[in-house]
Amino acid sequence: MVGRYDPFGTCTQCGDRILWVKTKAGKNMPVNPELINYKAVPGGKERIVTPEGLVVAGEKCSVDEAEGCGYISHFATCARK
Ligand SMILES: [Zn+2]
Repeated sequence: MVGRYDPFGTCTQCGDRILWVKTKAGKNMPVNPELINYKAVPGGKERIVTPEGLVVAGEKCSVDEAEGCGYISHFATCARK
């Protein structure tokens, strides 16, 4: 891994593997590494970050309803141990 950019990391709170995605705002955001299908919902409970770094309020959904793929913010699911 030396000399190579590694987007994966470990959450310091719960020890889970996370992925760092750079948002459009230029912030690095920890997300869960698995890509999920989502639909945008105003005021949706999940914060979904697309691979392009767009942060969307929405919900997980089935492939049929999906508007796109993204990652769920790790803050939402972090199980601090
Ligand atoms: Zn965590």
